[in-house]
Amino acid sequence: MSEVLVEKVYKKYGLTEVLHGIDLEIPKGQLTVLLGPSGCGKSTLLRMIAGLEDISGGTIRIAGRKVNDIDPSNRGCAMVFQNYALYPHQTVRKNLAFPLKMAGVPKSEIERQVQATAAVLHIDMLLDRLPRDLSGGQRQRVAMGRAMIRNPDVFLFDEPLSNLDAELRVKMRLEISRLQADLNATVVFVTHDQVEAMTLAHRIVVMRDGHIEQAGTPLEVYNAPQTKFVAGFLGSPAMNFLPVGDVSQDGGQSKVTLTDGTILVSPILVPQATRTIGIRPQALSAGRHADQIQIDLKQANELGVEHLGDRAFRYVSAPFGELSLLVEEPAGAGSQSDLAMSVHAKDMQFFDADDRAVEAAG
Ligand code: ADP
Repeated sequence: MSEVLVEKVYKKYGLTEVLHGIDLEIPKGQLTVLLGPSGCGKSTLLRMIAGLEDISGGTIRIAGRKVNDIDPSNRGCAMVFQNYALYPHQTVRKNLAFPLKMAGVPKSEIERQVQATAAVLHIDMLLDRLPRDLSGGQRQRVAMGRAMIRNPDVFLFDEPLSNLDAELRVKMRLEISRLQADLNATVVFVTHDQVEAMTLAHRIVVMRDGHIEQAGTPLEVYNAPQTKFVAGFLGSPAMNFLPVGDVSQDGGQSKVTLTDGTILVSPILVPQATRTIGIRPQALSAGRHADQIQIDLKQANELGVEHLGDRAFRYVSAPFGELSLLVEEPAGAGSQSDLAMSVHAKDMQFFDADDRAVEAAG
């Protein structure tokens, strides 16, 4: 069941259209991540759900009710911001109580709800502290508590972790996942960080230039990207793209000529429409392996090796661009004398002239 339903939603700032007819269902009890590069419209969409931006066209429903003209405070959404937006000079108790006080809830009822919320979040022993005396994780829980206390249908997170250092970020990701699961909350989470999206989301919605490029589980978007953009946006280092000049079929196998003249012979049929072959660096290995497709680049230069301790990535420049591949650490790293590489046929992805994925025939 969808908790938030976005139908043909447009957003214009003056004459400039920044969202071009978004259709999206946010399932109840799941964490949905809106992912995409800066400026693609993620925050605008989130703020329209919250009611902080007008809707130029289309409909937004929350819990079955059309909310286009409903005040933000009555939409059943609670927003959790990047800096938590806690009141620094007020205790945790007062921070939690604030939304209820604003709503005119009687004092005794406020105290009861503050206690109940604090108990769920395991912050009951922190109620008399000030925000500055809390850890980052505790502050995040207070911010969640302040959002929860209004019993919202949907939690909206706008890049809440982007100001934190790497270690705290990982901790907070786990904390948010745990809270979401404990509360069975419906969460919409905006980020431009693909690792954050992969680790947190039940469902990832990849956005680009004001439209949705693909939506699916993290593994669906990673393993079966529908476009070259999605393929290139998820994964680190980014997927390698080999530009294709020509594909010919020859008795059950395909001969692919790359634009630099390099020839690949594939035991599976490469679709005729293929204009780009995508290969993840982790699937591309150095050297010639008999059971794999061999790629002997016509011209290429070694750019260097990035050592990560347990593994290393080798970077190579070819006439059509840079390639990266996984190499064994430490033995194989840097010891390659030629630029041969291999890939299993099943690890190639094919994209047509419009950068849309095309399936291999057999
Ligand atoms: P994201 O969250 O993906 O970084 P935004 O939703 O913030 O992207 O912005 C989407 C587009 O809308 C951008 O091109 C941005 O410049 C534009 N935009 C955002 N807010 C405004 C505004 N108040 N006035 C005009 N343009 C805006």
